[in-house]
Amino acid sequence: LNAAAAPEQASASIKMVHVDLGDRSYPIYIGAGLLEQGELLRKHITGKRVLIVTNETVGPIYLERCRKALLDGGQLQVDDVILPDGEKYKSIDVLEKVWNKALECRMDRGTTFLALGGGVVGDMTGFAAACYQRGVHFVQVPTTVMAQVDSSVGGKTGVNHPLGKNMIGAFYQPRVVLVDTDTLATLPDRELASGISEIIKYGLIRDAPFFEWLEASMERLLARDPEAIAYAVERSCINKAEVVAADERESSEGIRATLNLGHTFGHAIETGTGYGVWLHGEAVAAGMVMAADLSYRLGWINKALYDRIVALLARARLPISPPPSMTADQFRSLMAVDKKVLAGKLRLILLRGPLGNCVCTENFDPAKLDETLNHFC
Ligand code: NAD
Ligand code: MG
Repeated sequence: LNAAAAPEQASASIKMVHVDLGDRSYPIYIGAGLLEQGELLRKHITGKRVLIVTNETVGPIYLERCRKALLDGGQLQVDDVILPDGEKYKSIDVLEKVWNKALECRMDRGTTFLALGGGVVGDMTGFAAACYQRGVHFVQVPTTVMAQVDSSVGGKTGVNHPLGKNMIGAFYQPRVVLVDTDTLATLPDRELASGISEIIKYGLIRDAPFFEWLEASMERLLARDPEAIAYAVERSCINKAEVVAADERESSEGIRATLNLGHTFGHAIETGTGYGVWLHGEAVAAGMVMAADLSYRLGWINKALYDRIVALLARARLPISPPPSMTADQFRSLMAVDKKVLAGKLRLILLRGPLGNCVCTENFDPAKLDETLNHFC
């Protein structure tokens, strides 16, 4: 975990992870009550104006806290725009609300767009910032586990298109990510578990000791123990930062693609059940079980590891099999449209070797995939 050694020193109660991307590098601050420490944000904001983008659920709880953090220094002018809540509003027409507000307020190129919310708000705000006057500064204040451990880090931004999820977007890195773990106090249990699914993923693809820590600490995480949460977020961000630093734009070598363990199966579940019925992390959890099952059938992992994966996901109260309504044929056709299909061959992230190792490959026996699908469907 050396690549994430932080060049900037943080105080004892603030954890810091450095995302190393040359002149686009940035810090992630993690800790309880960080929205009370506005200077952490303000020191990364150049220019005089900030547009906070949030939604109608998060705004009433955290907007004033965030606005105060920005106003405390007496230097900034702060406006806000409140979007409707939900994945179905992650669209280009809703994004226009952000640009309308910025133009109405005559915001110039020195403006900073601040995302206050979960992954939907973060992805939309980042894309809005990438496009507004060809690019204004962007900062992230993620308020879901999913956003704190995954979506706020790495610069993938965008919106959905009627023909596909996240199909319109840009790579656009934030200047800073401020994770105030106190914001998780109001997060619904299901959203908490959904984020934990991505946390478990980091252990599986590249961090065996973290997986073991999760096995020892799952109940503390589910109880939102502040220390356990902060550690899990930090360790997840370190893993994500290392992967993104190695392969920012998801090259064909597939280093960044390993972050998609369980996602090809998972996307099929999300589409097959209708978006929003299963949360993303729930679909990924079942997808990781299916990927582990296939890995086991290929002889790439042993049964003991497969059982550990299923047991940990179950303890996190995540689904460990796809919905009964889905058929193997449905999986086959939905998985064929996945972005990772390369020249007609389905590419999957599969586990191979001891805990913490995976491969991104199209070289597996398709008959074994049929066995997996028939086993679960
Ligand atoms: P979300 O943004 O929809 O948030 C989940 C729900 O929790 C929403 O209703 C939201 O309003 C509410 N909420 C947020 N913070 C809250 C808080 N502190 N207290 C109470 N309620 C709160 O969903 P998500 O899981 O955070 O993110 C999913 C989105 O992120 C998807 O659109 C997905 O495509 C995207 N994503 C992007 C990346 C990336 O790399 N950019 C990675 C993973 C996911
Ligand atoms: Mg994901």
